[in-house]
Amino acid sequence: MTDDMVPDEKGYFGSFGGRFVPEILAPALDELTEAYRQAKKDPDFQRELYRLLAEWAGRPTPLYEAVNFAEKLGSKARIFLKREDLLHTGAHKINNVLGQGLLAVKMGKKRIIAETGAGQHGVAVAAVCAMLKMECVIYMGEKDMARQSPNVARMQLLGAEVKPAGGENGTLKEAVNEAFRDWVASVRETHYLLGSVVGPHPFPMMVRDFQSVIGREVKEQLKTRYNRLPDYLIACVGGGSNAMGLFYPFVKEQTVKMVGVEAGGQDPASGRHAATLSMGRPGVFHGARSLLLQDADGNIAEVHSISAGLDYPGVGPEHSYLKESGRADYTAVLDKEALQAVEFLSLTEGIIPALESAHALAYTMKLAPSLKEGQIVVVNLSGRGDKDLEIIREQMEGKR
Ligand SMILES: *Cc1c(COP(=O)(O)O)cnc(C)c1O
Repeated sequence: MTDDMVPDEKGYFGSFGGRFVPEILAPALDELTEAYRQAKKDPDFQRELYRLLAEWAGRPTPLYEAVNFAEKLGSKARIFLKREDLLHTGAHKINNVLGQGLLAVKMGKKRIIAETGAGQHGVAVAAVCAMLKMECVIYMGEKDMARQSPNVARMQLLGAEVKPAGGENGTLKEAVNEAFRDWVASVRETHYLLGSVVGPHPFPMMVRDFQSVIGREVKEQLKTRYNRLPDYLIACVGGGSNAMGLFYPFVKEQTVKMVGVEAGGQDPASGRHAATLSMGRPGVFHGARSLLLQDADGNIAEVHSISAGLDYPGVGPEHSYLKESGRADYTAVLDKEALQAVEFLSLTEGIIPALESAHALAYTMKLAPSLKEGQIVVVNLSGRGDKDLEIIREQMEGKR
């Protein structure tokens, strides 16, 4: 199914993707590409991955019909939630981290490094490293460490070393730079574990494949119950991994509409947003060519979102490609719309969604009244909202 699909041998999805890294990393990326190619067809590797996904991480995740949510919106359609929020460490991120962790073991690596913004990816990496007995170093902007101290404590409890990056104002961009610097110096024994469908080839392809277990399960679950495909797939887009994981197994099913929802922030016109696909221009960031939020001089723009996981100036190259080809649509919702969606799902279904996932829900709420009888919509509930409680409470109090 995948062989005639993108990317090409050099990692290009149309004009997006590729490898924009220091020369010294090229052999490591080649080694990784080859190891991944082998692992993909190795039944022992796949069996071990699926065993751990089931027993340690909690797959398959349920596909839950949100009847109250749909009814309250006056929707005639059936709206389903893919419950990635029920996974170990609270989000879909673990699917990819487990896959790459096992691959690193197979490659004989002893050490794993990663960068993290809000700390969610860092926590997933630290958990997998503990379980696989790997040394673990997480780079995190110093400002992010202060803002996200519970996640720093979690990573440390799981045995990871958390290294501050970029001084007082350091955020994800500085953490990415530090992680690349480390990798250049340690590439023989170290695997760099990227957290989304971003970075140089083969990461966007490999992370997509590890996450596409989401879409494969949805396809199977709908086939078993209703013997049909969905009409809409809706997911939030930060780097783009949960969306790619849901979309990918349906890319060739032309009747299935796919919508990625970005962070419109406070107001897209004000510049305080992270709507990369909606507002970005082509550029190079994080080792690949994709759409990118940049200022007039081509510097990476400051981005903003109420949800830390969507607060990223770039986006995976395959999304830029799907947008350009028209196969997927991308839109953005505001911070305040995401907050309303958190409250609405909590009250109607007893599920507190992550602020990231709430962007997909907020768009679904706008779409719902126009849907037809019997249509099937699947929304990816990428994570749970416990981590966001502080922000949610502050914002709601601000309103009262
Ligand atoms: C990290 C995160 C995201 C954004 O990452 P993608 O790569 O775009 O999926 C979305 N939802 C949750 C819950 C996250 O933790």
